[in-house]
Amino acid sequence: MTAGQRTKFSNNVSRHPCLMAVIRMAGLRPTRQRIALAKLLFSGAPRHASAEQLHMEAEKAGMKVSLATVYNTLHQFRSAGLLREISIDATRSYFDTDTSNHHHFFVEGEERVIDIPSNLIDVVGLPKPPKGMEISHVDIVVRVRRENPKQIK
Ligand SMILES: [Zn+2]
Repeated sequence: MTAGQRTKFSNNVSRHPCLMAVIRMAGLRPTRQRIALAKLLFSGAPRHASAEQLHMEAEKAGMKVSLATVYNTLHQFRSAGLLREISIDATRSYFDTDTSNHHHFFVEGEERVIDIPSNLIDVVGLPKPPKGMEISHVDIVVRVRRENPKQIK
């Protein structure tokens, strides 16, 4: 992006030209809130975040944004292919910035998701999908919990 193009946008938005491009390419309008949330999600290493976690981070960063907006934005990013949703149960979802095929450990009691590389799990014996359908992807959640040394005798 050249300096000339950059002057079209407000200072706040122009600091993240890459995120703006990513949001645009996903077919979404790069609003200030979407850019700020994308910055929290995509600036560092690949990560998993729930709507509640991202909302807390946004508030810590001084953003005035509702949980509903965070939730909607995460689902828009997911629909646009920027995130993959990992459903833990009916009430809990995490959003993964790594959209490649891989699996997850879910740490019970810590509300944490850890990657399992896809080559570490062999999925065998998958049923043939119903007529006219194809398998989109298979994601496995392995639930783990801390061992309690006191209970081991
Ligand atoms: Zn992951």
